Amino acid sequence: MSKAKSSESVKVVVRCRPMNDKEKASKFDRVVSVDVKLGQILVRNPREASELPKVFTFDSVYDSNSKQIDLYDETFRPLVDSVLLGFNGTIFAYGQTGTGKTYTMEGVRNDPERRGVIPNSFEHIFTHISRSQNQQYLVRASYLEIYQEEIRDLLSKDQSHRLELRERPDTGVYVKDLSSFVTKSAREIEHVMNVGNQNRSVGSTNMNEHSSRSHAIFVITVECSELGVDGENHIRVGKLNLVDLAGSERQTKTGAQGERLKEATKINLSLSALGNVISALVDGRSSHVPYRDSKLTRLLQDSLGGNARTVMVANVGPASYNVEETLTTLRYANRAKNIKNKPHINEDPKDALLREFQEEIAKLKEQLEKRVGKKKRRRQRKRAGEGGDGEDGEDGETEEDDEEEAGDYWREQQEKLEREKKAVLEDHSLVAEEKERLLREKEKKMEDLRREREVGEMLAAKVKAMESKLLVGGKNIVDHTNEQQRMLEMRRQEIAEQKRREREMQQQVESRDEETLELKETYSSLQQEVDIKTKKLKKLFSKLQAVKAEIQDTQEAHIKERQDHEQNQNELTRDLKLKHLIIENFIPLEEKNKILNRAFYDDEDESWKMKPITRIEDDHQMMSRPPSAVGYRRPLSHHAQIAMKIKPDMRYKAENILLLDMDLPARTTKEYQEPVIAPKVAAALEDALRDEDEIQVDASGFHGSLGPTPPASASGSIKKPKSGRPRTSKKSSTPTSPFSPCSPGSPIYPQSRGLVPK
Ligand code: ADP
Ligand code: MG
Repeated sequence: MSKAKSSESVKVVVRCRPMNDKEKASKFDRVVSVDVKLGQILVRNPREASELPKVFTFDSVYDSNSKQIDLYDETFRPLVDSVLLGFNGTIFAYGQTGTGKTYTMEGVRNDPERRGVIPNSFEHIFTHISRSQNQQYLVRASYLEIYQEEIRDLLSKDQSHRLELRERPDTGVYVKDLSSFVTKSAREIEHVMNVGNQNRSVGSTNMNEHSSRSHAIFVITVECSELGVDGENHIRVGKLNLVDLAGSERQTKTGAQGERLKEATKINLSLSALGNVISALVDGRSSHVPYRDSKLTRLLQDSLGGNARTVMVANVGPASYNVEETLTTLRYANRAKNIKNKPHINEDPKDALLREFQEEIAKLKEQLEKRVGKKKRRRQRKRAGEGGDGEDGEDGETEEDDEEEAGDYWREQQEKLEREKKAVLEDHSLVAEEKERLLREKEKKMEDLRREREVGEMLAAKVKAMESKLLVGGKNIVDHTNEQQRMLEMRRQEIAEQKRREREMQQQVESRDEETLELKETYSSLQQEVDIKTKKLKKLFSKLQAVKAEIQDTQEAHIKERQDHEQNQNELTRDLKLKHLIIENFIPLEEKNKILNRAFYDDEDESWKMKPITRIEDDHQMMSRPPSAVGYRRPLSHHAQIAMKIKPDMRYKAENILLLDMDLPARTTKEYQEPVIAPKVAAALEDALRDEDEIQVDASGFHGSLGPTPPASASGSIKKPKSGRPRTSKKSSTPTSPFSPCSPGSPIYPQSRGLVPK
């Protein structure tokens, strides 16, 4: 196999879809005609019937009747074949929304006739593998989507996660943490695709709109290992990128501002970057190719001017109302024809997974081998000890024998341990303790034995699982139907090749016609010469007109694009000015500087980022008193302070959230209870305790009569102490005394209520 580094052009094919029902119902004119034989697309101007149609020539073109399988055999099969040889390959579907990109890439899932290139390539790859001989294959698949410059892994469980692009000098640009699934059959890889497609639609409310704004990339990596002439295993790795691009129509952003504008700009970004990359590549003068302007171009850098074979399918619609977009698409595709790639076979790359697998399997097998070896030796020893002849015939053993013997070995060991255990149990000469110890020992041995066996089985299972992932062909090679199918495919391929050659020859004839005609011609008369030259002139004139019109069109398109860019720039400038104004007028200078100090440019990510706030002692950008640093109280709002006082609500507690009131022990005393006092006594006491000025005394009544019964008001004279505890009532500011207030016979003189001498 040659590792030729010769350059080859990107292959561009155009496919025109049939009129859809809506277009038919509205009776739109068909302005696109397809010349399959010549590989030309002719576009008529719907407004100017007299104008000559615009002609575009491509590697091949497909009309509305084209079959999926024809496209595959003629255009895609050779590419997938080279991927199987170890080249990188890429298929782009480009075009306006609704022109058949997804139809070409995926097609109608359950209809074998209308399956697109992705499912057809699955079939192709796995059939190829099943027919191969003395080769080992590993096939894996990944599926990702780029939407608004964010990469989503369509096969990962967490669909909210966004992936990053990384670059390594040896392997180039790759998506970090992108999941990939090893697949063993067309059915399995189809399942992977379906899972991805489901995830694609999950995130979007309107699938059509979403798919017209996002790029989907399905990646199949085929690794093949083969014994080379040098006796070493060589690995070739081919990677196939299947890209369903976003709709090429301009995303409307009329009146969009701020976030909306940014969104529209971002959606356009990858596609316009793709256009710029193509322009820069075919320009020949520009030394800088702006791959780094978008995620898409960075990821597919190899496919555009690098190490890959690339096919671009430009999809167009036939109806008159789409004519502008159709022409834009055709011009875009026309430019892409001139990109030169330098594909080569990727032999023995460092990151081949197949190599890792092979090494891992070899390692596991070696481990397994060692275990088996150990066992055998042990057994031999044992047999020798038993007095057997030790003859095993080991050399002639097959793998199955090995397995069987391994089983025997385990059983024997187990039985032996059981026997020993029993012997210990029955041995009455042993002390109980000793017996127990021995038994434990035996149990442990049995446990070890079991574990060892499990490890061995696990190793074997692992080897089996890993080996099953590596595919080898050559099983059905004698299958009759298979053989027939292969012949059929070969024929189809031959036909496709023939068609291609025919077309190329036609195109060449066409271009030479004009140059050589003149030279060969000999004229019989002057008049004839004039006639022929006039005809020729006319032809050339019309050609000149066509070229002039084309120049005009291109200029117009250019102007439109420029205006678009200008408008975009104006809007962004206005946005920027507004933000500046806000910053200057509303954000304190100090804060602004802090943010400026924290901002830094991340080269990996190509975006501005903020350093996290860290508490470093002499970092001046820090606030002097962070709200929740250790050792400080949290600040409380006034409202919270009040609210906490009114109601001890947790909500307003910033600290001391635990209520740490003392837990009182159970009470051992009782509340004092006053003794019950007879009402009479109580009244007397009441009287006695009354304030002096409250006592009304009528002294006149005492003069005439001595020793009469004191008036009721003084009836508290006979007093009994209530208790040892003084009454704290205000009324009794003077302590009561056990003596009667007035002794009978003595002159009653209400000087003092109490009997305590003053
Ligand atoms: P895109 O992915 O470019 O937005 P689709 O692939 O979804 O467009 O195609 C839009 C519609 O046109 C679909 O219903 C599809 O079945 C139909 N269609 C596209 N191309 C063809 C074709 N070559 N033959 C028949 N139907 C087609
Ligand atoms: Mg689509």
